[in-house]
Amino acid sequence: MITLEHSLVALLKTECNEKKFNEVIPFILEPDAIRRYTGPRVLSHFERIGNEVSWMKFPTRKDLKIINKENIWVLCEHHLAEGYLNCVIGEETQIDVYEKYNRHLDPINYVSVKNHLIQDFYFDIFIREVFDCSRRYMNIFKFNGETIDGQEMRNLVQKLSEFGFYRLAYMIYQKSGIITNQEWFDNNVKKSLYEVYSSDLAEGTYKYMKIPEKINEWITNKDFTHFNEGLIPVEVYDRMYEEVLEKMHNM
Ligand SMILES: [Zn+2]
Repeated sequence: MITLEHSLVALLKTECNEKKFNEVIPFILEPDAIRRYTGPRVLSHFERIGNEVSWMKFPTRKDLKIINKENIWVLCEHHLAEGYLNCVIGEETQIDVYEKYNRHLDPINYVSVKNHLIQDFYFDIFIREVFDCSRRYMNIFKFNGETIDGQEMRNLVQKLSEFGFYRLAYMIYQKSGIITNQEWFDNNVKKSLYEVYSSDLAEGTYKYMKIPEKINEWITNKDFTHFNEGLIPVEVYDRMYEEVLEKMHNM
């Protein structure tokens, strides 16, 4: 999931309670944000390679405020499984391994990071249903019977996520009247990240949270008539988000 999408799923899980949302969002985004310092997805997403799982201990709230590229591995114990292969899509996230090494986090921090991993876990299953990923280490994928390479796959997943984001914005608008456009992200997500993260981490995370111009315009104008322009039927998104929300823990 892209960070924009993670955010709106979290907002739905809080029943569109912005105060609660602003409290949890820095931790919801943390497994992706921290990659600014930790690099490959395997560590902060607890991916299995063969019989081994990569893991890391996430920084405490206090350490998150001072974290940077130099001190990350002093502050956070970790283990990178051998034989790690770079690939467009990741291996399965092992949530039980996250639990084992992260009991030191305070309860809100702990459950929010776990919820991010749950979101990715079900999104990854969804991606494997939409695309044939069986030859991923040869950089070959299939979409609608057509063979594509890793770069094309990456572009399609990005587009898929952006339309998912648009669908989530619609669901939130229906439930609460909140317009989750770029201005809303500036006033909520950006502000919360700067409060909780080191300024380098906040800046490095938020700069990627750009809603595509066209979608931002639609959301701002409450124009929710473009669902047929996505890659897959809207019902497929709804089923996936419903499952993710059901599996996430209350925050
Ligand atoms: Zn992630």
